Amino acid sequence: MTAEERLDPERGSAEGRAFAIGLRNRFRGITVREGLLVRGPAGWGEFSPFAEYGPRESSRWWTACLEAAHQGWPEPLRERIPVNVTVPAVGPERATEIVASGGCATAKVKVAEKGRDRREDVDRVEAVRAAIGPGGRIRVDANGAWDVDTAVRMIRELDRFDLEYVEQPSATLEELGEVRRRVDVPVAADESIRRAEDPLRVRAAEAADIVVLKVQPLGGVRAALRVAEACGLPVVVSSAVESSVGLAAGVALAAALPELPYACGLATMQMLTADVAAEPLTPVDGYLPVRRVEVDERSLEAVEIDAAPWLARAAAAAEAANA
Ligand SMILES: [Mg+2]
Repeated sequence: MTAEERLDPERGSAEGRAFAIGLRNRFRGITVREGLLVRGPAGWGEFSPFAEYGPRESSRWWTACLEAAHQGWPEPLRERIPVNVTVPAVGPERATEIVASGGCATAKVKVAEKGRDRREDVDRVEAVRAAIGPGGRIRVDANGAWDVDTAVRMIRELDRFDLEYVEQPSATLEELGEVRRRVDVPVAADESIRRAEDPLRVRAAEAADIVVLKVQPLGGVRAALRVAEACGLPVVVSSAVESSVGLAAGVALAAALPELPYACGLATMQMLTADVAAEPLTPVDGYLPVRRVEVDERSLEAVEIDAAPWLARAAAAAEAANA
């Protein structure tokens, strides 16, 4: 079956609807998140590879979409998923507000942002510790920005506020491994993982204690479960900043993992200015419910764009997947 046939509404198997939703803040250099929604017998699936991804890279995202729409997900092992609130590179007062309004017991604090003083990172993490209380958990995310020596120095300094782990302190596996050997705080790999084979490379290089996994880049919930099992390291499930339809797949992965020791990075609905669901997947008391998401026609219409370019991307991704 070709992608066009799969997407042909006449055949009753699926229909493709494209969306464009604004981001509250610039993310990966973009201000609008676009994607395709596909309806199949199992429910809605989302296909939203970033614009710069070609057919090969997008093929796994397409496989994940088809799994959601046509196959559905494995049985959940839990009913709700703990999630973290994310604190961007803001001042201490704003950081305090974000943590207080988030209702989450875990905060992820962005650090090492370009053009910002390191002192600001320390002040931000200090404010978050005060706001979340001694029982809360704090992880920091440097998005690969530190060199090894800076990472070691900063992690030691920030660990005064008791860090759960540090996410991608440096860019390469070699650097991650060196940082990991020099600090006591666990290291998580995020940007180092874009493909199914990457977690195994992370493990082999002894570059991290934890892996951050996303459903779409790994080719679906089942594929991500296989990756997690083969890798053997604890998993933090994260989103690719999807609509609630795509987020639900991340929730399904988190719900199906045998162990879930850490809060997940799935509370990203608030990064978007709108959603396609009547009931968006936003956290309640720091948890997301494990459920499928139904598209709300009026919500979708409000953000709908021409599906033709997205159907073409899906067809190219499907062809690459079958090649
Ligand atoms: Mg990260």
